[in-house]
Amino acid sequence: MTTFCERCKREIYRYEVCDYCGRKICNNCMKSSQRATKTKRLVICKDCWSDMEKRKAYKSGRAFNEPVETHIM
Ligand SMILES: [Zn+2]
Ligand SMILES: [Zn+2]
Repeated sequence: MTTFCERCKREIYRYEVCDYCGRKICNNCMKSSQRATKTKRLVICKDCWSDMEKRKAYKSGRAFNEPVETHIM
């Protein structure tokens, strides 16, 4: 099954979901990704990367508007 990148509208076979705008994006539109915890991966697209607040959240390893986790799983 193919899908379309919601940022550049290209047809893609594999996609990533940006954690900051929730869009399905292709590899080309993905600016960066990181492993925040053992199970969680954070993906940020190029649009969100240019948003200072979102970039700051990404750099501190959090999704946008996500409260800092204080509890231990
Ligand atoms: Zn794209
Ligand atoms: Zn985004």
